[in-house]
Amino acid sequence: MIKENSIGDNDRLLTLFTRDYGVIRAFAVGAKSIKSRRGSSTGLLSYSNFLIDKKGDTYKVVEATANKVFFGAGSDVVTLTVAQYFCELCLYFDPHDDSSAAFLRLILNSLYFLVDKKRDPSLIKAITELRICCISGYAPSLVACDCCGKFEGKTMYFKLDGGLLYCEDCKKENCIKISRTVLDALRHIVFSDIANLYSFEIPEKDIKSLEKITEKYIVFQSEHRFSTLEFYHSVN
Ligand SMILES: [Zn+2]
Repeated sequence: MIKENSIGDNDRLLTLFTRDYGVIRAFAVGAKSIKSRRGSSTGLLSYSNFLIDKKGDTYKVVEATANKVFFGAGSDVVTLTVAQYFCELCLYFDPHDDSSAAFLRLILNSLYFLVDKKRDPSLIKAITELRICCISGYAPSLVACDCCGKFEGKTMYFKLDGGLLYCEDCKKENCIKISRTVLDALRHIVFSDIANLYSFEIPEKDIKSLEKITEKYIVFQSEHRFSTLEFYHSVN
């Protein structure tokens, strides 16, 4: 469940990100008054099985059983803000068809690692941002320099427009300088399978540079201002 709106005293409109149908909005009638029974399964950041009744264009939650509730997200403001940013990304990218299952799996994994707190939230955010771009058809081209094919150098350059990589000799205007370490991390995020996506090491000092690039890239490609991202910068 990625968003909720109260309707009257007892009912809520839930925005659900589903594996099979992407983002849908469903009414939960009386969900507040029966919170003790199914409250957490229809709460924000809950991952639940829903039985939904569809009449025309209206969806109604008949039953909900929680698989996992990411309660830990609320324990500090940065973690909560990143979790809410992930929800806003789901809403904005609104994945459908083939991409919704991969997108959902990514978000669930990211929330798991975020709430687990063993890794820097900036790193989880960077992984999620870049991987969303890949799933949504904006994968950057990071194999080699776009002009001469050079695979690596001490410093390489990344162009947000087109997501292209250049070497020192071929760099264009308005490119972002990237270190070898950050390029390795970017390549890992783009090319690794989901099972190994989060298992790579990067020195703490390089996480901010990585995050700066993935964030600029997703904002550039989506041409969208994410309000939760702006809030993130005010608290982090
Ligand atoms: Zn080159």
